[in-house]
Amino acid sequence: MSIQDKVVVIMGASSGIGAATANLLASKGAKLSLAARRLDRLEEIKKSNPTAQIKIFKADVTKANDVQAVIDGTVAEFGRVDVLFNSAGIMPVNNLDQVARDEWQQMLDINVKGVLNGIASALLVMKQQNSGHIISTSSVLGYEVLPGYAAYSGTKYAVRAIMKGLRQEEYGNNIKTTVIAPGSVKTELFNSINNEAVKEGLEEAMKQPGAEMAALDADEIAQAVAFVIDTPANMAVNEMIIRPTGQT
Ligand code: NDP
Repeated sequence: MSIQDKVVVIMGASSGIGAATANLLASKGAKLSLAARRLDRLEEIKKSNPTAQIKIFKADVTKANDVQAVIDGTVAEFGRVDVLFNSAGIMPVNNLDQVARDEWQQMLDINVKGVLNGIASALLVMKQQNSGHIISTSSVLGYEVLPGYAAYSGTKYAVRAIMKGLRQEEYGNNIKTTVIAPGSVKTELFNSINNEAVKEGLEEAMKQPGAEMAALDADEIAQAVAFVIDTPANMAVNEMIIRPTGQT
């Protein structure tokens, strides 16, 4: 089955990597369910792909009922779910001594529980189909830790652990798993940083000669996602780290 025959659900499709993947897959003829909290952004994507088959859902990945409604709505519209792409995430970085308990909770809820909610709802359908593919987004910070990123990294290590467990539980049921782990990508992710000093520091660093160029475009990560979706049925890319060539 090629991309044009596949039904793909994207959680966190309203901006950045999720939106870029939505546009690319739409151009390749996939049937898409796009979910996020900002419905207006999803409507724009649908409008800019007038010939594509796209259903949009206002959904908060922290709410199990919202996520279930996306999967149920997809099955009602398209009859199946071939791919779930968990792209929703936030990155409010802060040193641990800032004791940003609300940020820790939000990151755990969105970056970790959001992924679990997606898996929980899609897996039942995929097991009935005896086929499916779940793609979740970790980060290079799911492999290494930098000062300020401890809590965020913790959530991205968790995504890898969850996906590894999922693979071990479900490979016999013809369900593929992929972890996408991007390095620096130009998106709205920095907007989720609340600590102004941290945000300004990162923005300054991005202004240094060459730094802006070093970050990838969301479209380039979308190409990687399309590649893993398009692999033959007997082949699963389980992990993919995608750094800008100039990133350490
Ligand atoms: P963006 O901020 O551009 O996109 C984040 C997406 O997540 C938006 O569509 C947003 O939609 C959605 N989202 C956030 N919270 C929720 C929620 N509660 N419910 C539903 N959707 C939600 O950032 P990116 O595209 O960069 O981020 C995508 C993923 O990539 C994240 O998991 C991020 O951690 C990861 N990543 C990004 C890197 C980068 O450099 N950009 C590097 C490594 C990993 P809305 O607000 O409308 O709900």
